Amino acid sequence: MDCPRALIIGGSVGGLFAAHLLRAAGWDVAVFERSRGDLADRGASIGTQRDLFDIMRRIGVPLDPSVGVAAQLRICLDRRGAIVCEIEKPSITSAWDRIYRPLRAAFPDSCYRAGMRLEQVEQKGDRVTAIFADGARDEGDLLIAADGIYSTVRAQLMPEIQPRYAGYVAWRGVIEESELSSAEHALLYGRMSFCLPEGELVLGLGMPGRDADTRPGRRRYYWIWFRPVDLASSLPALCTDTTGKCHGTSIPPPLVRAEVVCELHDAADATLAPPFAAIVKRTPQPFPHGIFDLESPQLVFGRVALLGDAAFVARPHVGAGITKAALDAQGLVDALADTGDLDAALARYERDRREFGTSLVAWSRHLGAYLEAQLKPRAQRQGAECERRPEIVLAEYGAAGKPA
Ligand SMILES: Cc1cc2nc3c(=O)[nH]c(=O)nc-3n(C[C@H](O)[C@H](O)[C@H](O)COP(=O)(O)OP(=O)(O)OC[C@H]3O[C@@H](n4cnc5c(N)ncnc54)[C@H](O)[C@@H]3O)c2cc1C
Repeated sequence: MDCPRALIIGGSVGGLFAAHLLRAAGWDVAVFERSRGDLADRGASIGTQRDLFDIMRRIGVPLDPSVGVAAQLRICLDRRGAIVCEIEKPSITSAWDRIYRPLRAAFPDSCYRAGMRLEQVEQKGDRVTAIFADGARDEGDLLIAADGIYSTVRAQLMPEIQPRYAGYVAWRGVIEESELSSAEHALLYGRMSFCLPEGELVLGLGMPGRDADTRPGRRRYYWIWFRPVDLASSLPALCTDTTGKCHGTSIPPPLVRAEVVCELHDAADATLAPPFAAIVKRTPQPFPHGIFDLESPQLVFGRVALLGDAAFVARPHVGAGITKAALDAQGLVDALADTGDLDAALARYERDRREFGTSLVAWSRHLGAYLEAQLKPRAQRQGAECERRPEIVLAEYGAAGKPA
């Protein structure tokens, strides 16, 4: 192939990692993103891992130390607010837009087409065609489906593979660092802090502030509270706004009903360590979303490859979605460079990344087993479903596999 052409569906982090690495390897690349808006508005905190730093450097958009907020220690608070467990485990928490923005800025606009919703994929011989909602078509040697957990491409190829509900929701909230009292700041900031009420888990950590600002005083504090919720009977009510419209398995923060937030505040008072309860109650617009995971039994279909969340979604306990998308992209491009043969490279990609994704999802299910089991009768729970010890939670949380 003189200059092979790749069509990349989805212009978020997974699509951009693949696009940068393929361009550097000499491919003609076109990215198609259905959204016209700024994806950076998604703004959540993200855990960072060494592989992510390495791949960003390889792409030519290195992350400097200002990328995030460091924590050296992990602590666990009991119901009264006393520290019951403490371990040293450094981590850096960044923000989604701190990764996405430089990736997007370094990618040429001429190769990035926003407002293009893929509807269908066709394959003939060695060529693959993408067909869009506006009737446009484009053709290439390879199509990369980086179109997220509800991937249109995967739905066409494997309609039976669906995201699986984990049995619990995550309530998330972000509060300005300046809104913490000095006692809360001294106890919690610069640490990853946990509280383990019966059947639930809450953790909090510092993250960059507006425009990824990491200057002290301008940062934010982020918390996430996992709570068992029945999919059929209770999740729809959480995600229903004041007009009676149900938004599915999550809801935009401004639309969460006041009484739902009141119930959360009552539960915070009743179950959380006082500093956590106080922060939850002061947080503007906390919002719930159902936790789902996803496992694909196959990643490659002729000249189509699934990548990132389109292929596998691990639960948030491993904090690895962005790094996995980057590693998928690197795995594909390195396989291409090594073999020079597209079909052989895709076969290697299928083998390596399926194994990785399968084990990451399994590990994230293990970390969430106790939470997931809360809706089961106690007598039916086994192993990790029955109990959790603070020292194990603190050691394992955020790791992509069992710590050595
Ligand atoms: C609240 C929250 C917190 C998170 N925290 C972390 C964390 O701490 N650490 C971490 O590593 N990861 C985290 N993640 C996960 C991480 O954001 C994802 O794993 C990552 O964004 C996956 O990238 P992706 O490109 O594969 O998919 P996505 O980011 O989902 O992007 C898919 C893109 O495809 C586009 N698209 C979809 N369908 C079509 C179509 N038919 N045609 C064209 N375009 C389409 C979408 O608009 C979207 O831009 C978090 C996610 C959320 C929601």
